[in-house]
Amino acid sequence: MIRFVFITGGVVSSLGKGISSGALGALLQARGFKVRLRKLDPYLNVDPGTMSPTQHGEVFVTDDGAETDLDLGHYERFTGVVSRRSDNVTTGKIYSEVITRERRGDYLGATVQVIPHVTDAIKDFISADLTDEDFVICEIGGTVGDIESLPFLEAIRQKANELGPERSLFIHLTLLPHLTVAGEVKTKPTQHSVKELQSVGIKADVLLCRSDTSIPLEARRKIALFCNVRPERVISAPDVDTIYEVPLVYHEQGFDTEVCKHFGIESNRKLNLRRWHDIVRRTKNPEGQVRIAVVGKYTELPDAYKSLAEALDHGGIANNVGVKMNWIDSEIFEKEEIVHHLEGVQGILVPGGFGERGAEGKIAAVKFAREHKVPYFGICFGMQMAVIEVARNLAGILEAGSTEFGPVDEQVVGLLTEWNNSGKLELRSENTDLGGTMRVGSYPCALKQGSLAREVYRTDKIVERHRHRYEVNISYLEKLESCGLSFSGLSPDGRLPEIVELKGHPWFVGVQFHPELRSKPFDPHPLFESFIRAAVDHSRLV
Ligand code: GLN
Repeated sequence: MIRFVFITGGVVSSLGKGISSGALGALLQARGFKVRLRKLDPYLNVDPGTMSPTQHGEVFVTDDGAETDLDLGHYERFTGVVSRRSDNVTTGKIYSEVITRERRGDYLGATVQVIPHVTDAIKDFISADLTDEDFVICEIGGTVGDIESLPFLEAIRQKANELGPERSLFIHLTLLPHLTVAGEVKTKPTQHSVKELQSVGIKADVLLCRSDTSIPLEARRKIALFCNVRPERVISAPDVDTIYEVPLVYHEQGFDTEVCKHFGIESNRKLNLRRWHDIVRRTKNPEGQVRIAVVGKYTELPDAYKSLAEALDHGGIANNVGVKMNWIDSEIFEKEEIVHHLEGVQGILVPGGFGERGAEGKIAAVKFAREHKVPYFGICFGMQMAVIEVARNLAGILEAGSTEFGPVDEQVVGLLTEWNNSGKLELRSENTDLGGTMRVGSYPCALKQGSLAREVYRTDKIVERHRHRYEVNISYLEKLESCGLSFSGLSPDGRLPEIVELKGHPWFVGVQFHPELRSKPFDPHPLFESFIRAAVDHSRLV
């Protein structure tokens, strides 16, 4: 029997609904249940792929090639359940489906309306592509009270009504602000938010209350009374030192026990939280620290590189060290002396990115890492910039560049116009639409015998997630390999360079894919584990 848990948010945005959903998933998993997590996003974009990372945070990519909300990354990191295209929907996607059906004549003369046509499409999404899951946790993006989320709230109200309380549960995540002058947490915004939810016919069953510290019993009782929820279902969700402590803290507060009780599941069912205790213990007791410079473009919004920051932390957990990240806007290197910013770091990472702005600064960071033998990790755009740097400064191809920045004489990085996608030929040109047309999703890659990549992965064939439009030009392979840049990972047909590494350097690796998307705290990605180990070794040298 599949049970559905709907998670809404109130009072303010950014309360960490994605982390709360992921943590609940982890707790239910720890009781032996099979879970699936889904996100319903109220914005009008068909997917976040065309949105700036500084607007909406990182775009998370699934194995099956969907560009999705970053919360799906939290879900995967907390549960290890691989997300699919069917786990994220937006208003834009729902409406474009409804309109396509209308144009096809599927509605047989009916007037097409939000209720029932849009709400039906949302409900179809909620229950699509499920098999033997015990729980489906559906997070509704945005904040209750927003105009955009109304059709989603209406759809989950209908869905829960159809399922009945034995198969549905509403959790509302709110904020209890702490007023220093009054010396207490205030419950009024929560009361209003619960009322707002009630006005659309949804009664919260469990309230998850975010606050800087644990909520006093008195406040819990008051919220219970005013919000028509049992006191034990007003769960305190205080700030914690590391997000991986969230499942443990929620469990201590009785969160998963109350969720199970609602569904009539015995609360003494076996529960194994060992993996979370272990991660938290390692995170809180590091044996050392390394400093990594992340030289990127969207450095003002930490969410823009969410999975990357997490994957670096996972690399730290694997090596029992803390990872301090210096987020550096690469444009600064076009104006200021690079050494002031990179001296004293034990690793340099250039992450994924788009567009010409700041590219020369990234190339300068690669040059610094190469010449000073500082561990270097280039991801996607960071690999492309590494190849350009080596082409210009080691192979003497002075005009080396990327066609992403306009016409260049030496197209060391060029537009990917055709490639093989599981036997299907994909074709692109300069005029193709920007949305949903990149090389996205999982692709296989063969690793070269004797390479660092092969040693790190301990296998000769890997599958990693991609999201890019440009690619290193294979016709430069010989010239670049002759000056030490080995093409250690190639697509199985040998046409697309996937990994490069520099010989004679302690750790210099560029990858065309995004390894950070597959890293988990309990299963750190081997490349991040190895990169952080190299950073630890580098710190011992100086
Ligand atoms: N802009 C580059 C491309 O499209 C790199 C993309 C990325 O880093 N994800 O190929």
